[in-house]
Amino acid sequence: MPLPSRVDVAVVGAGITGLSAALGLARRGARVAVLETYAAGWGASSRNGGMVLTGLKLDAATLLGRYGRELARELFRASVESVDLVEELVRAEGIDCDFRRCGHLALASKPGHYAGFERGAELLAREFSHGTRLVPRAALRDEIGSGLYHGGMLDEASGGINPARYVAGLARAAQVAGATLHGNARVQRLERLGARWRLPTTRGVVEAGEVLVATSGYTGPATPALRRRLLPVGSYIITTESLPAALARELSPTGRMMYDSRHFLHYFRLTPDRRLLIGGRARFVPENARTVRASAAVLQQGMLAIYPQLRDARVEYAWGGTLDFAFDTMPHAGSIDGCHYALGYAGHGVALATYLGMKMGAAIGTGEFGANPFTRLPFRGAPFGLHIGKDWVLPLVAAWYKLLDWVD
Ligand SMILES: Cc1cc2nc3c(=O)[nH]c(=O)nc-3n(C[C@H](O)[C@H](O)[C@H](O)COP(=O)(O)OP(=O)(O)OC[C@H]3O[C@@H](n4cnc5c(N)ncnc54)[C@H](O)[C@@H]3O)c2cc1C
Repeated sequence: MPLPSRVDVAVVGAGITGLSAALGLARRGARVAVLETYAAGWGASSRNGGMVLTGLKLDAATLLGRYGRELARELFRASVESVDLVEELVRAEGIDCDFRRCGHLALASKPGHYAGFERGAELLAREFSHGTRLVPRAALRDEIGSGLYHGGMLDEASGGINPARYVAGLARAAQVAGATLHGNARVQRLERLGARWRLPTTRGVVEAGEVLVATSGYTGPATPALRRRLLPVGSYIITTESLPAALARELSPTGRMMYDSRHFLHYFRLTPDRRLLIGGRARFVPENARTVRASAAVLQQGMLAIYPQLRDARVEYAWGGTLDFAFDTMPHAGSIDGCHYALGYAGHGVALATYLGMKMGAAIGTGEFGANPFTRLPFRGAPFGLHIGKDWVLPLVAAWYKLLDWVD
């Protein structure tokens, strides 16, 4: 597509956030151009584990302690609504992406973590009216063919999806609604032009009335104010060959999305074609050919610790991607100096990027940003000026989380 010279809204980044926003805006009649360095879905949105999760990275007690009951309830409710929104979009747009409400199972890596699940389940029910089910160690075999864990907490409201098909479906839906998508168009900077914006890209210049930045873990020098507020973290995945049906059933009799309770966590699931997919922060730093190879070996060891019965299973695929953490581990949306943004999903972006993309798209149309609870969170930069421009920050953060796993 040739670049348009003028649009109502320019969206920077064609992942779940940018495409959901573009879809909503285009449906309401706005002229929208999505500008993307590579191709639609190139970033984390097509490479993730496909877990469509309720909740946020922070647990119920931390949300309540930090934000108070009213805002914490709104934030948690938004996370539950975000799963409904994905389901609704998939249905309404006819996206063929294996969405299934299979539920998720959090697994206690240490006995004390299961006690934490008991307290968490009680808080979720009492404060957020959200039902979960505790699975004590003795009953865990009904859920997972592994003896490694000390119990689990099951949330039936979560789902699973094929993320690459989902983001491709969002791209199609946004185009059908009238948005235009422009690959190979890296935005170099954002310039103010009176009340409007001027965006020089590697393919030419676009002028826009409003700008939404949706670049998550790939946020770069074009938006320094956002870059300073985010930590990009590498996450890696391997998948086995397609497994015999009986073995797949033994590994995961109920087909849940699963993750353990450590800071350096493993997340894993079966794919519809019966591969075991397992991911984790094996290397922490953003992906490249070397870190993908090194992470694949670490992840395979992790997989065998959970499932020794996979010792003869071939690992057929390995890949990595970058996700983003804000320094308070919360998603953020709003505006800085008139430029809108939605990012910081901390590994919960499949559902929440859909939600915040849609919400920001609607707010740009109406000017009503306050209804979205994430716009009310303070969005601070890194403490002591630490940020991704400094090479030593990520190893330091990784060491900190390893220490937490050891003491916690
Ligand atoms: C390996 C891995 C596993 C994950 N697993 C899960 C999971 O199971 N469940 C879950 O909920 N979340 C998961 N996540 C997180 C989730 O994938 C992300 O939070 C979500 O996809 C973010 O979507 P996004 O659209 O905001 O960003 P992205 O999909 O990363 O898209 C950002 C886009 O912006 C583009 N861009 C950057 N700068 C510019 C510029 N200057 N000009 C133009 N374009 C630009 C990039 O090229 C990129 O395509 C995982 C992430 C990874 C990496």
